[in-house]
Amino acid sequence: MPELPEIYNISEQLNKEIVSLTITEVVVNQEKSINQPIDVFQASLVEQEIISVTSIGKWIIINLKSRDRILINLGMGGDLLYNQEIPEKKHQALIKFNNGYLLSFRFWWFGSIHFVEYGKIHDMTNKLGQDIFRDSISKKQFLSLFVSRKGSLKSFLLSQKNIAGIGNYYIHDIFFKAKINPLKKINELSTRKLGILYDVIINEFLDSISKRGAHYELDIYNNHGEFVANNVAYKEGQLCICGSVIKKVKTGSTSSYFCPKCQK
Ligand SMILES: [Zn+2]
Repeated sequence: MPELPEIYNISEQLNKEIVSLTITEVVVNQEKSINQPIDVFQASLVEQEIISVTSIGKWIIINLKSRDRILINLGMGGDLLYNQEIPEKKHQALIKFNNGYLLSFRFWWFGSIHFVEYGKIHDMTNKLGQDIFRDSISKKQFLSLFVSRKGSLKSFLLSQKNIAGIGNYYIHDIFFKAKINPLKKINELSTRKLGILYDVIINEFLDSISKRGAHYELDIYNNHGEFVANNVAYKEGQLCICGSVIKKVKTGSTSSYFCPKCQK
């Protein structure tokens, strides 16, 4: 599932490629992916000019000259490719441009391509917390999110309402590098520790963005990223750098990988 670094990378690549292009044709093979009837959706997009592409958390935002927007979420994962050819693999939608190129959408599960008219609120993105990069959240702002909060730290970080973009792949090594046990509750952590957590998240995401995202995800040119989370993530039973055995524990509806010696 793509998280902040992959979506940031894809939106930056799109911003280089599709700005000033006009949409000439839209093909939808899976109506569940869009938020309007197919004919209305096609009419909404065709002849629209792109002025910029950005992102918030796991959402890609295509800004149109009309000030309408196209909001894209790859859901559990998928390919969003920029190409001259229509892909042979099954795809759920195509957006064609006046330069002969097209964007193809292939979702592994359901993804979303939503059209949002200027002035209208899009419920799913409206409920998101800030994006730690795009919104340049400072350490002070980050710390203020935790004031008088209780409950699981991991659930808090994964909830997109609090901070947008952190997901299940990066979280294990983030906790490892911050030396935080994934079972910790927010009120058990000192301000100093939460400050370290902020630094680790920023560094981890910067590192991944510089490597064009996680190794199992594709960018718009059909290339894999080069970032690998390799401290404790998905390494149950293997040895930590300290020599202890990495454990896997259930944390709510997800699992956590951690080193019981390094992460107190
Ligand atoms: Zn260890």
